[in-house]
Amino acid sequence: MSFTDCDIHIHTNLSLCARSEATPEAYIQTAKSANLKLIGFANHYWDERVPGPNGFYEPQDTAHVLKLKENWETLEELAGSELKLLFGCETEFAHGDLGITEERATLFDYVLVPHSHTHMRGFVLPEGEESPEKHAAYLVRSFLALASHPMAKRWITGIVHPFYPCGTYGDEVTKIFQNISDAAFSEAAAAAKENDIAIELNASSFTQVPPAALEEYHRFFAACQKAGCKFFAGSDLHQPVFSPNSSSFFWLERVADAWGIENRLTPEELWGGRVKAR
Ligand SMILES: [Zn+2]
Ligand SMILES: [Zn+2]
Repeated sequence: MSFTDCDIHIHTNLSLCARSEATPEAYIQTAKSANLKLIGFANHYWDERVPGPNGFYEPQDTAHVLKLKENWETLEELAGSELKLLFGCETEFAHGDLGITEERATLFDYVLVPHSHTHMRGFVLPEGEESPEKHAAYLVRSFLALASHPMAKRWITGIVHPFYPCGTYGDEVTKIFQNISDAAFSEAAAAAKENDIAIELNASSFTQVPPAALEEYHRFFAACQKAGCKFFAGSDLHQPVFSPNSSSFFWLERVADAWGIENRLTPEELWGGRVKAR
């Protein structure tokens, strides 16, 4: 079974940061031509019942993300029998709050949560914590808090781009990773395992880290592997490109092989009830 048979981290044009051509129909066509077995749409989402969204999340509420369900049957017809579709979301974890309630979690096939959208300064990353040392400490703290959140075990399927400081590039990423000890990575991995949270290999962030950072980043995945965590591949696409020759998503296959990533979520598990909210 191939690691990149499934991609449950796709943004359609309902996500405010996605391209207008990122229609579910376009993704279905390209996923089929690239022989994927299952795709899941995970648009950015903040449940309006949780106070305190920022300006980016406020419009991306329940009514907004549910628009995708309006013609779901037509989308399933288009997908046909060889491609399965799931309806998920990428909510948020900011200032200790999870951006979704249990009641709303039931609307989705699965829930993905990031803890590292630290480009949202002052919302996710607290003001004054921009140095590599403090940024690293925040990432450890937020991962542990998210993985042990009261809703985690029942509702959180996966943590996306774990520890990758979104919006940070080059040597700065290496420095941040260097400030996270093996012990901290192991503690994070144990918390994910304990709460049955799968770990994402995120194509978008993997292609943005320099080789030195990738070596450091590997320590986290090795810790997760040792702890017995499950893994999944996510493209984090914001535009519908799934070319086996050019898409960074398929490059994750080589990373997973090189790192000996074994416990992979399969299409059967994702479809057949492994996804928590189903
Ligand atoms: Zn994200
Ligand atoms: Zn995303």
